[in-house]
Amino acid sequence: GNVAIAIDGPAASGKSTLARILADQLGLVMVNSGAMYRAVTWKVLREGVDSHDAGAVIRVLRETILECGDDGRYSTIKVDGIDPGDELRSEAVNANVSAVSAVPEVREALVALQRDYLKRASVVMEGRDIGSVVFPDTPYKIYVDADEEVRAARRRDAGELDAVSKRDAADSRRATAPLMVADGATVLDTSDHTIESGVAAAIEILKA
Ligand code: C5P
Repeated sequence: GNVAIAIDGPAASGKSTLARILADQLGLVMVNSGAMYRAVTWKVLREGVDSHDAGAVIRVLRETILECGDDGRYSTIKVDGIDPGDELRSEAVNANVSAVSAVPEVREALVALQRDYLKRASVVMEGRDIGSVVFPDTPYKIYVDADEEVRAARRRDAGELDAVSKRDAADSRRATAPLMVADGATVLDTSDHTIESGVAAAIEILKA
């Protein structure tokens, strides 16, 4: 059967980089679940809908065709036939994605799409609730963390202006599938790791 490696953690913890390298090294498909929440948020903003109006967000969700696939290495996403590209990482999306992702109907729809990936391939999936909700039965769970200052510095180095701590607070506070260390997950703090040593530490966790 196919295998899922769950990589969860707060924003800018280093989980995307880690998930990408692990997927490359192990020959698995890397799935960025955050891109799905960002895609719905992108559509909500395009429709001029208030991201805090759950009813309106659900209406947008119902009217939207999300195509989740992969190019053999990484997940891809289209919204009504369009790839939003870099617009998924815009400041407007950053500022509204936590509100959209707190809507249980949104989560239900996207979790189903995330589980579909495992029917097609073995995956490294990164997000907030992959080990707790999407694939709770997988033995391969890593919770990636890093000090607040380290995460802020990484964001600055990447040239991103993102209220990361605000987003993390909202993601941790929400009622449905809050950010947390899943049962059976191992915490990997990347504050004092280089990318290479972080990958090596992750491989050791997965072998254990
Ligand atoms: O991973 P990324 O920072 O791109 O995720 C963007 C946002 O999507 C998060 O701040 C969170 O609100 C939401 N998200 C989520 N569950 C996931 C992945 C992302 O709620 N599994």
